[in-house]
Amino acid sequence: MIARYEALARRESLTTPIAMPTWYDVPCPVCGNDQADTVLQAPSWHESEPRLYAVVQCRACATWYTNPLPQNHGQSPQGTNPGKPDPVHAHLADTLPRPSAAGNWLLHFGPLDMAWLTQVRPCGWQVLAWNERPSEIPAAWYDRGGLAVFGALDELAQSCRHQIAAITAYDWFERQESLRQILEHWHTLLHPNGWLLLAVPNLDSAGFLTFGSLWRGLDLPHRRVHFRAGTLSRCLVQTGWHIRRIRTLACAAWLRESAERIWHDYAPSRSGWHRLRLWWRTSWLSQALIVRTSPWFGRGDWLVVFAQPR
Ligand SMILES: [Zn+2]
Repeated sequence: MIARYEALARRESLTTPIAMPTWYDVPCPVCGNDQADTVLQAPSWHESEPRLYAVVQCRACATWYTNPLPQNHGQSPQGTNPGKPDPVHAHLADTLPRPSAAGNWLLHFGPLDMAWLTQVRPCGWQVLAWNERPSEIPAAWYDRGGLAVFGALDELAQSCRHQIAAITAYDWFERQESLRQILEHWHTLLHPNGWLLLAVPNLDSAGFLTFGSLWRGLDLPHRRVHFRAGTLSRCLVQTGWHIRRIRTLACAAWLRESAERIWHDYAPSRSGWHRLRLWWRTSWLSQALIVRTSPWFGRGDWLVVFAQPR
């Protein structure tokens, strides 16, 4: 896809030799097509990966995805949150329909938030966290009444057909390799009247429009797919989902981190009017306005989709 992968090393790194990874091209994680055009280059947010990455747009389905990828780029860093639920988890808890019967199963994909678990369980949900490895589930999860299920998703789908009443996925789906298969497995797992609540970063957000390649939500190379409401909706509809509602949520932490980075990277080389503009874009007042108003116009940093099997 990109003829000279050396171009993806960060410019300041070229003066000192660095170990170049082996790159490999990946097909579109949504439709499997391998024809795409480069639309963006952006740096990593992780100190151990000081290089640029490329994002391409699939010619078949128009989805943006990270390509090429370095070999052995490691697991996507995700943590557990022991304190207050973060805004997206809190929103998932507030908008989750009540279970039709106490003890209905809710299957969760993504970081584990203890406060969210404490909020959801009293509504009558039995909360299962899915993970490939048992070691990824902290003891605190079980202490607070959470359960967990492990192993291959396709096997789980076949053994628990239509047993799950709700699936929540946050900060997880867009990091995976083959999204259509996952949607098909979720379709098999869910009860015909079940709910899917899916949260992914929003390319149409005010944060991305303001900070571009330095928007924290890109998180290259760990986020492999980058959605807009249109591309995500099409992907869901084509795999047998009926979309009930889409809304967006702002992420103040991403805006703050993006502002700090763009000020750090660009302010020293700017002067006069350009520096003043940069100061305004990174000011707390500008960020507060974005946080408050962007969800009114579908410009929040997270897209949250409510869908049901068709
Ligand atoms: Zn595609």
